[in-house]
Amino acid sequence: LGRLYGPLTAMSNVQVDVMTALVSFERVLEVLDLEPTVAEKPDAHDLRAAVATHGAGIELDAVTFRYPRADEISLASLESVATVRKDPVGATLHDVSFSVPAGSMVALVGPSGAGKTTLSQLVVRLYDPTTGAVRIAGQDLRDVTAASLRETVGVVSQEAHLFHDTVAGNLRFARHDATDDQLWHALEQARIGDLVARMPEGLETVVGDRGYRLSGGERQRLAIARLLLKAPDVVVLDEATAHLDSESEAAVQAALDEALAGRTSLVIAHRLSTVRAADSIVVLDDGVVVERGTHAELLASSGLYAELYRTQFADLDADRSGS
Ligand code: ATP
Repeated sequence: LGRLYGPLTAMSNVQVDVMTALVSFERVLEVLDLEPTVAEKPDAHDLRAAVATHGAGIELDAVTFRYPRADEISLASLESVATVRKDPVGATLHDVSFSVPAGSMVALVGPSGAGKTTLSQLVVRLYDPTTGAVRIAGQDLRDVTAASLRETVGVVSQEAHLFHDTVAGNLRFARHDATDDQLWHALEQARIGDLVARMPEGLETVVGDRGYRLSGGERQRLAIARLLLKAPDVVVLDEATAHLDSESEAAVQAALDEALAGRTSLVIAHRLSTVRAADSIVVLDDGVVVERGTHAELLASSGLYAELYRTQFADLDADRSGS
């Protein structure tokens, strides 16, 4: 039995190691904003030249997407990724078309499971569409280099992960050569400069799970400072659903306003202030775009948005007007 247990114990240790590795890999990917699950073409070109010429508008052109099944993933690694996943049966997104003009903000809303997160993942090319195309600055994302896409698009997810590292170390993941002055500037823009200045060792204070404990709102602001340092042309933002206290919420909002100003943004919106401020709102339901318009237009048309507004956003509205 001992001979059996030995290898079994060793195997379970390996599994734990692999799991740990996967978790940290995911965290790294979140900061680097992109997961290398799709292949870069040998002749891929740099997206930034097109962005400089045409601006960083986003275009979804008849996008249908079905998550690859497990057996297809292993097949895809053996064969050309492009030859599988052409069957749109069981698709999560169906024939989705809309654009986000350069410098504007589009808010994405819809019931849980509608496909909002999936759609945002296609814009950072975590996956390729099954059929149709996603373009930035007119360039199909399948034709551009991963590095130039990563520089062009910044992501802020709901849960801002920090590394067990110093404040400066966490920020320099976005820009290795940033000077301390540039770090302070980003921290101030993200409304977290005062807090870092009060920390025991300022920029050199270790934060994260085992370091200086930051609240949810503070972590988000640090993530926004990281985004500001990176200064991408496009921002994909998944707004936090968790309720922050009102002071923290106001600070996060101010930091986000700063981060989104002048950039092209696609925001999975959970805040009333965001849907109100958006140039346009796209309403997704079961993978289909069912409505599109401004807050006022969609409320007037009494469709799904008006219903979502009543159930998701109106209570927040009442809170605000009451305060
Ligand atoms: P929520 O508001 O709850 O976050 P959402 O609108 O962001 O929802 P998605 O997370 O995009 O919705 O999910 C859309 C659909 O795709 C759901 O049915 C979900 O179960 C499915 N889905 C999500 N991720 C995967 C995956 N990796 N593999 C297979 N199916 C997935």
